[in-house]
Amino acid sequence: MSRPSPRMLTVLRNEVLTPHMRRLVLGGELSDFPPGCESANFKLLLPRPGQSSIALPPFAEMPEAERPIVRTYTLRHFDAERGEIYVDFMMHADHGPASAWAASAAPGDRVGFAGPGAPKFVDWQADWFFFAGDMSALPAIAANIERLPCEAKGYAVLDILDPADRQALPFPEGIAVQWRVNPHPELDSNGLVDAVKAKTWLPGSPAVWVAGESGAVRAIRRYMVGDRVVPRDRLYASGYWQIGMTEDRHQIEKRKNSQ
Ligand SMILES: Cc1cc2nc3c(=O)[nH]c(=O)nc-3n(C[C@H](O)[C@H](O)[C@H](O)COP(=O)(O)OP(=O)(O)OC[C@H]3O[C@@H](n4cnc5c(N)ncnc54)[C@H](O)[C@@H]3O)c2cc1C
Repeated sequence: MSRPSPRMLTVLRNEVLTPHMRRLVLGGELSDFPPGCESANFKLLLPRPGQSSIALPPFAEMPEAERPIVRTYTLRHFDAERGEIYVDFMMHADHGPASAWAASAAPGDRVGFAGPGAPKFVDWQADWFFFAGDMSALPAIAANIERLPCEAKGYAVLDILDPADRQALPFPEGIAVQWRVNPHPELDSNGLVDAVKAKTWLPGSPAVWVAGESGAVRAIRRYMVGDRVVPRDRLYASGYWQIGMTEDRHQIEKRKNSQ
């Protein structure tokens, strides 16, 4: 699938989903927006302080200072009939430009949108499913959960900041859900790793989907590949952010580590 052209969108609504999750509903020219891409990521383009307009890619020829701030988010839902896109923003403690923007965005505000890429769905043919992640991964996990066959079994281990951040998602009965409260993921994300390792391994071939803080995701990927021998085509493991790093820094580190 080729990537759709970047576009400008407008904030239609800013809703509080749970104490630390906001849903921004965006609208605009979406007639060519690809359907069925929930769980895919896209680039959110925000103005730098003092900028009155937002440049859209390509940025190759553009001086650094004129480029917008770029952050990665997940397409939670696309309603083609109403022409609406839902994006769920975790309100993390060390507000960066994106979460600060989402906290105060008002109807009529403009934002750049580049993407979406390919959806990040599990392999529905797997014998069972293992989802793990923190609130940054919840939008993509929720999009997966909504599509699971009703006889699906397995686990979901989900870190939230507060008990009230639990969301009513349509988990099939066979998925054992553990909501874990970790009020300070910016200090320590290891509890998620321990909780994943504590689950009794089920027979058959699982599809594993894990995202969140990079250190935790790396440790879970090692466990899944090394100890549980999950084949790589049944494993999605992606660091969505890293303790102590802005996204710009985290992306540079990711590129270095993949070379
Ligand atoms: C493929 C992909 C999809 C993503 N989808 C979503 C999504 O749908 N919803 C969502 O909320 N996030 C999502 N994220 C994570 C999001 O891109 C990062 O949290 C990003 O750093 C937020 O930008 P910011 O400007 O708020 O903070 P930044 O300026 O990037 O960071 C500022 C500080 O906040 C800390 N920080 C960043 N994120 C978190 C966090 N989640 N918890 C605790 N501390 C944090 C950083 O370590 C840094 O110290 C996704 C990331 C990727 C790679």
